[in-house]
Amino acid sequence: MHDVLPEAFRQQYQVAERVRVLLERAGYQAVDTPMLERSDLFLASFAQDAWQNLYAFQLHQRDLCLRPEYTASICRLYLDHYQRLPQPVRLQYAGPVFRYETPGRGRYRQHTQVGIELFGGQPRCADAEIVQLACEILQALHITTYRLELGHVGVASALMERLHLDRQAAHLLLTLMEQISRSPDGEQAARARLEALYPQTSAETRIVDRIEERPLSLNGQSYLVSSLLSGISLPFSDEDSRHEIAERFLWKIGRSEQRRHVFAALEFLRQLRGLAGSPPEVFSELQTLLSSYQLDDSPLKELERLVALVEASGVDSRQITLNLALGRGVSYYTGLLFEIHAPDEEGADLQLCGGGRYDHLVRAVGGTSDVRACGFAFGLERLIPLIPRDDFHIVEQRPVIVIPVGTHDLVYASAVARHLREEGLAAEVDVNGRGVSIGLRQAARRGAQFALIVGETEWQSNTVTLHDLESGEEQTVRREDLAEVLAGKVRIV
Ligand code: AMP
Repeated sequence: MHDVLPEAFRQQYQVAERVRVLLERAGYQAVDTPMLERSDLFLASFAQDAWQNLYAFQLHQRDLCLRPEYTASICRLYLDHYQRLPQPVRLQYAGPVFRYETPGRGRYRQHTQVGIELFGGQPRCADAEIVQLACEILQALHITTYRLELGHVGVASALMERLHLDRQAAHLLLTLMEQISRSPDGEQAARARLEALYPQTSAETRIVDRIEERPLSLNGQSYLVSSLLSGISLPFSDEDSRHEIAERFLWKIGRSEQRRHVFAALEFLRQLRGLAGSPPEVFSELQTLLSSYQLDDSPLKELERLVALVEASGVDSRQITLNLALGRGVSYYTGLLFEIHAPDEEGADLQLCGGGRYDHLVRAVGGTSDVRACGFAFGLERLIPLIPRDDFHIVEQRPVIVIPVGTHDLVYASAVARHLREEGLAAEVDVNGRGVSIGLRQAARRGAQFALIVGETEWQSNTVTLHDLESGEEQTVRREDLAEVLAGKVRIV
């Protein structure tokens, strides 16, 4: 977590404001949610790994946490305030989120997310709108070198359904997809994790192979195992315990079957990742892969239409990568997935934005039915270094310093400064109380161009002594003329 110093603060504020205005023009109303949430809000939407990154604690027997993202909170906000209003509901937000991650380049434990959520609408139109808006934001910030990666969770989930992966395995694979699609190392790490969770024992393999040669119904398998157990000279206390052992044995066999399916799915994801590339070339190869697995190609068709719309809005196809193995750490996505990447100042790949469709999340966080929804979030701290420096034209007024001669002149000095600020000038009161000459020296060091000396003579005549810190000249000015006299002289840097 970082302290934010004036320059960075100004930049963050300016960028957030530019994005806010752009999104507001597109119909997205700005909202905010508390930084502190009930932890179970994120349990509903997160994978185990992300859950471990929560800053969670107990207070007065309540499980609370600092928000690690906005989406689940905005879904809660939607349920509390918008669910009875006509859709689409377009909301935007900007604020800090907290994740207990290993800090690294561009990776902080507190960062600022700027994003949108769109509730309702026809998925095809809504998906296109949010992807186009994400690109429009980059264009408005003059960030031109970036890569838009598009994926769809439907392809991997369809395969997992076809393989009859149990919920736990399917969920795990979907959350590991991010790691798998990132790099060969990521794939290796995911493979090692799956190996640990679905280990293979040689005895199990032999038995499964044998059972597979002559498949039996579940009852038949149970009977077979039970009879095998009757034939061996181990003492079983009763019929029930023999049955229990048979059940457990079969559960283990089922698990090794899951293992084979999990690794078949992993292989499929590997192939999908291998085919990732720019449209239109990759469409036909992906089509062939999907048909070789007899998988429905509608997610691919959806992406094809989306690509056409995004291209029509001015994004070059060479900037687009189709990656059907794209996965994101959280498990709530149900359709489109996308990320935007750009090289940082040293050329390393940086993810600027992530988003997608999550049609079940509103229900998962307490809604009575599903609500179609999609959204994205940018990391503000990652955007700022990529914005051309000239975009941050800082208009700063050199302040006028009002120096009270003694402490009893403070009331008049404050009134003079307040009057100048009301007139739009930057005016500070010297609070050091160390007299006029030290006050003038400090004012010059502070970068001021003018100081106003106010003592008894001045407040009695309702004037000030205007001191030019560069030339050393002094003149008496009437208080009512002061703003006008200064306005013509104060330089803006
Ligand atoms: P996510 O909620 O993980 O999709 O993140 C959305 C965006 O927030 C990412 O694309 C990044 O730009 C940014 N982001 C995510 N995690 C961090 C982090 N630890 N530090 C800085 N920025 C981050």
